[in-house]
Amino acid sequence: MFRSKSIILILITLSFIISCDGLKIPKNVFETSERVKYERSFSGADSLLTQWKAGFSSASASQLKIKDGTSLLMNSDQLKSDAVGYLIDLKKGDLLVVETESTLPDKKIFVDLLDPTSGSEMMKSQIIEDNLFSKPVETDGLHKIIVQPEIGYGSQLKIKIYTQPSLKFPVAGKGNKNVQSFWGASRDGGGRSHEGVDIFASKGTPVVAVADGYITRTGNQGLGGKQVWLRDDEVGNSHYYAHLDSILTEDGRKVKTGDTLGWVGNTGNAAGGATHLHFGIYSTGGAVDPYPFIRERSVPKFVTENNSEKFSGKYLKAGSSLRSGAGSDYEIFSTVKPRTQITVIASHGIWLHIKTLDGREGFVKSNQIEK
Ligand SMILES: [Zn+2]
Repeated sequence: MFRSKSIILILITLSFIISCDGLKIPKNVFETSERVKYERSFSGADSLLTQWKAGFSSASASQLKIKDGTSLLMNSDQLKSDAVGYLIDLKKGDLLVVETESTLPDKKIFVDLLDPTSGSEMMKSQIIEDNLFSKPVETDGLHKIIVQPEIGYGSQLKIKIYTQPSLKFPVAGKGNKNVQSFWGASRDGGGRSHEGVDIFASKGTPVVAVADGYITRTGNQGLGGKQVWLRDDEVGNSHYYAHLDSILTEDGRKVKTGDTLGWVGNTGNAAGGATHLHFGIYSTGGAVDPYPFIRERSVPKFVTENNSEKFSGKYLKAGSSLRSGAGSDYEIFSTVKPRTQITVIASHGIWLHIKTLDGREGFVKSNQIEK
């Protein structure tokens, strides 16, 4: 009797946890991370594994910063255990991309994303497959990204870290320059603020599905006039297309990225004004700025010169200082004694991410190093 009562209690508790809106269990919570799988299966010397884990801890604690669109090169003799860990400022809607150029396709390269304030995982550790990793960013602010090749990787590794839009641009053949009214602009004499972006295009330009998903609603009403609502399959956001001249799709239809949903117009409160698409995104917490989701941006090139090899084991010139990022606009956080010997963790063009013999890391310009 007691036993079946406890089972019922457990079932009730479970169903409460599962149905409770305030307690969302992330999809991947029960998955084992690639890093943990690798550590469990590693059959080499324990000391190598310990060193590798120490490389990850040190990268996790790093306060070094990078900008969106960074290219770097990790050096071969540093690749036994080193990892690079950097802070990067990202926006909800960015697609974070890590691209590698590796001459050893069978060797694993791990990517981790941590919350820099709590140190907790923002995603389970993953492997870069076919030299490319990407992930839609879910929160605004600083993220800690860590890249580490497997133990004994033994070759140079080129890495690019940058963002791309996570969605297709919603108006066919148009781009950033056609976005002429942004998120938060004042509306109705300050009575409300603009919960989207306006993309100007001539009447009849196709508006397209920004992602795979389905049409939750179409109609002709209120400020938006002729409108379409698309819910994407991957994240579950609602995408709002307004002021259409006419609608091609219908409620409940499954759509693929790039499918035409209708045509640009000036219906609703845009009547009599310039034709444009009002595009909005509604997430679980309400409206969000759609621009990071659609803003087009360039892809950086790989670093070509191997400055890592050239400068590792050399000495810093007197008066050299370590900066928190690869550029003279980053703050100096440490000065070093004359003739401090360094190893190069990674080269970022003419700036080098170095480590001193006493374990301090920072960036120096290559002309601060003795030849
Ligand atoms: Zn608008």
